[in-house]
Amino acid sequence: MTGADGRLTVLSGPSGVGKGSVVSLVRRRHPQVWLSVSVTTRTPRQGEVDGVEYHFIDEAEFERMVTADELLEHASYAGNRYGTPRRPVQERLAAGTPALLEIELQGARQVRATMPGAQLVLLVPPSFDELARRLTGRGTEDSGRVHRRLDRARIELAAEDEFDVVIVNDELERAADRLVALMQIPP
Ligand code: 5GP
Repeated sequence: MTGADGRLTVLSGPSGVGKGSVVSLVRRRHPQVWLSVSVTTRTPRQGEVDGVEYHFIDEAEFERMVTADELLEHASYAGNRYGTPRRPVQERLAAGTPALLEIELQGARQVRATMPGAQLVLLVPPSFDELARRLTGRGTEDSGRVHRRLDRARIELAAEDEFDVVIVNDELERAADRLVALMQIPP
C-alpha cells in the first residue's frame, strides 16, 4: 500500500458475536464506509439477497475463482466456503476509500500475510456463555450447526493475540464507535 491508499480494516470474531450489527451501525452513520461483499457457497438465509449480503455461488464457481486467483483470501467455515473478491478491495483502497472486511480467522490470517498494512480487529463477546445464548437465540441455525459454530468460536477467541485490537461487544453503540475511531474515517 502507498501513503495515498485507503486503510483496510478486517473485522473478525466468532459467529453470533454481533459483527453484522456493529457493521450496520457503522455504515448507517458513515455511508462512505465500503464493506466488501463476499462470495459464499452457503445457501441464503431468509431475507438475504444475492449481491447484498453475499454473492451466492456454487462450489464449481468458487473453485474457479480460487484457481484464477480472484480471491484475496478464502476459507471453509462450518461446512461452507467463503471468500473475498480481490479486485473490488484493491479498487477501493487505490481510490483512498476506507474498506472493511468482515471475515473469520483463517481469512484474517491470510490478509495479515498478504497485506501487512491491514488493521486486524477482533470483536469478542462479554463472555462465552453470552455468545452461546446469542447464537442459540438467533434461531438461524439448527442445533448441530450451532455446536459447530461454538466449537469454532473457541478457536477464534483463543487467537486474540494475533489481532491488533480487541473490541468487547458489550454495548453495540460503544463497539461501533470504537471501530469508527480505528478506521480513521474522514469526516
Ligand atoms: P455466516 O454464514 O454467518 O454469514 O458467516 C460465517 C462466518 O464466515 C462469519 O464469521 C463471517 O464473518 C465469515 N465470512 C463471511 N465472509 C467471509 C469471507 O469472505 N472470508 C472469510 N474468510 N470469512 C468470511
